[in-house]
Amino acid sequence: MSVRTIGIIGGGQLGRMLAMAAARLNLRTVILEPQADCPAAQVANAQIVAAYDDPDALAELARVSDVVTYEFENVPVSAAEALAKTVPVYPPPRALEVSQDRLVEKTFIRDCGIVTADFAAVDSQADLEAALDRFGGVGVLKTRRLGYDGKGQRMFRSPAESREGTFEALGGVPLILESLVPFEREISIIAARDRDGTIACYDPAENVHLNGILHTSILPAGVNEATADQARKAARAILDQLGYVGVIGVEFFVLQDGGLVANEIAPRVHNSGHWTEAACIVSQFEQHIRAVAGHVLGDPRRHSDCVMQNLIGDDINDVPAWLARPGVLVHLYGKTEARPGRKMGHITQILD
Ligand code: AMP
Repeated sequence: MSVRTIGIIGGGQLGRMLAMAAARLNLRTVILEPQADCPAAQVANAQIVAAYDDPDALAELARVSDVVTYEFENVPVSAAEALAKTVPVYPPPRALEVSQDRLVEKTFIRDCGIVTADFAAVDSQADLEAALDRFGGVGVLKTRRLGYDGKGQRMFRSPAESREGTFEALGGVPLILESLVPFEREISIIAARDRDGTIACYDPAENVHLNGILHTSILPAGVNEATADQARKAARAILDQLGYVGVIGVEFFVLQDGGLVANEIAPRVHNSGHWTEAACIVSQFEQHIRAVAGHVLGDPRRHSDCVMQNLIGDDINDVPAWLARPGVLVHLYGKTEARPGRKMGHITQILD
């Protein structure tokens, strides 16, 4: 059956950009999101205003959609699995399961033959002491679930740092301790796999974070071809292992010798791939829509060097200046209130 309507769980800016890409291919979109008039619904064909795990809303989404996808990884796995009984769900719910829990994720990535930081499960203060001792007193402690943009983390940079009460301070929830990776830079790769198993990779982007939030993606990344190839190989292994359909983002640390250490995967279009809308023939958003709708993948080639910069909080005030700059594509998300740390839009500057 050919796809006419795509259901999207989640109504943020990623859903918005997916809906816009879908419209260009004559595909309709319906957004499931509890917040009315959300960024995605402003440009989609319809919105179901309900919680992501509301059974009636999910049944309605399945009824009106030929395929369902999602724009964030914290969609309840049970909701995705229930939906998948009546309508194709891409990426597969297994991808959600893997990316929702950092311990499951790191184990999965390592089992794909990809290098990760050393890691240990931490379920008590005693676990933390033992794991820190094993890692020489340094490491990054993270919540296993629901952490993003550096939230729910504690960095131990020196063995002298106090560990007292840390487990409780992070909420007494299951944690993971990772060894501290002495990275030179951070890169990510955006890749897509279609229903036939064909894979297309974008060029790796170099990412700069500020206060734990992505600030800038730079193309080309300052890595050599061997490192870029390692990133592509890793993405391919992950996509194949998951029997994946759609776009994925994989983040890596780059070591001084060019070696890669995988940090995390995002089973969706990714902030570090926004530049593709300005500098590639087919953007990550169209690529995802093509994959989930059962179309052939598009050409991921990059035709220009570029820099993508997020507009966060008050950065929205710079929009008039960006609009006046030659070579700059401005993309705003339809959010009315510019709270600190809130992603309001992004710009991509083409460099020549
Ligand atoms: P994450 O939430 O895993 O994306 O981590 C947020 C940021 O913390 C990363 O972009 C890195 O800058 C830093 N970070 C995370 N894990 C590690 C690690 N194992 N070693 C060194 N830095 C890390």
